[in-house]
Amino acid sequence: MFDLMKELDGASRIGIGGHVHPDGDCVGSVLGLYNYLIKNMPVDTVIDAYMERPSDVFDTVAGIGEIHETADEACDPYDVFFCLDCDHTRLGHAAPLFANAKKKINVDHHISNKGSGDVNYIDATAGSASELVFDLLDLQKMDENCAKALYIGIIHDTGVLQYSNTSPKTLRAVADLIGFGFDFSTLIEETFYQKSYAQTRVCGKAMFESVLLLDGKVAYTIVTRKTMEEYGLTAKDMDGIVNQIRNIKGVQCAVFLYEMSDTEFKVSMRSTDAVNAADIAVFFGGGGHKKAAGVTMEGSTDEIISRITERIAIQLTD
Ligand code: 5GP
Ligand code: MN
Repeated sequence: MFDLMKELDGASRIGIGGHVHPDGDCVGSVLGLYNYLIKNMPVDTVIDAYMERPSDVFDTVAGIGEIHETADEACDPYDVFFCLDCDHTRLGHAAPLFANAKKKINVDHHISNKGSGDVNYIDATAGSASELVFDLLDLQKMDENCAKALYIGIIHDTGVLQYSNTSPKTLRAVADLIGFGFDFSTLIEETFYQKSYAQTRVCGKAMFESVLLLDGKVAYTIVTRKTMEEYGLTAKDMDGIVNQIRNIKGVQCAVFLYEMSDTEFKVSMRSTDAVNAADIAVFFGGGGHKKAAGVTMEGSTDEIISRITERIAIQLTD
């Protein structure tokens, strides 16, 4: 771990970026750090956060309205630019700003990330990037805005402190964070569990249409663009479907495909200890964690499913 304030000493322009298709941990780590720096850096410091527009369930997180959804590549270089919850390849519109920054700092918990910064804090045993950002901050200098953002990040990436990436350190962080007094129970309900009626129906359709392969060890399901359009949903609304498929008894790896364009599908995988989903995602050019990984793939759904199932079968017979 590095000394955050030492690395920021003398910086007058600071940028923060998260990954494309931002999830709760991306929003939490970016806005947790953003709110902390706004509070603790000298008032004339430029602090800019970059991210694609996340789901509107995160609308109550402080700073969400100040996020830059586009980037001016020709702007003055940042003295320090943070890449959070991903490596430099997934920064999207913030990638050129990170590349041009005088100092690059990468904080991440993805096993597939080898470290993209001049300064790196990469720990694949951490439950979330938000937990790693928490490690870097001084609890006494946090405020409720920062704490709430980091809490959301930790909750989302640990499945409400249930997944095996939850550690005693995670719980100590969460104990400190809820001490700031925000309504954590409503926050979990509204950002994690609550789904719109349309989302619930599409999730139900996806579950109903799920298919078992390899003696029930693999389950897959597909949501087409046509279905998403019919129900007025976008990629942001697909969160949670793959977890439902993984809950099927006996399934070691759940595979969820949704159509991004005529030939492109976003693939999400969730697995048990028996399958390393990150290895499969990396094999096809994506990344993630052992039990939760993703990749974008081209081809027909039949081709994609058979290519992925083949990789899962190799692991299951090893
Ligand atoms: P999800 O299935 O929820 O989209 O993603 C699961 C995990 O895999 C997340 O930690 C996410 O950041 C990572 N992930 C998903 N898609 C990609 C991808 O296309 N490339 C990389 N490197 N990581 C991905
Ligand atoms: Mn994460």
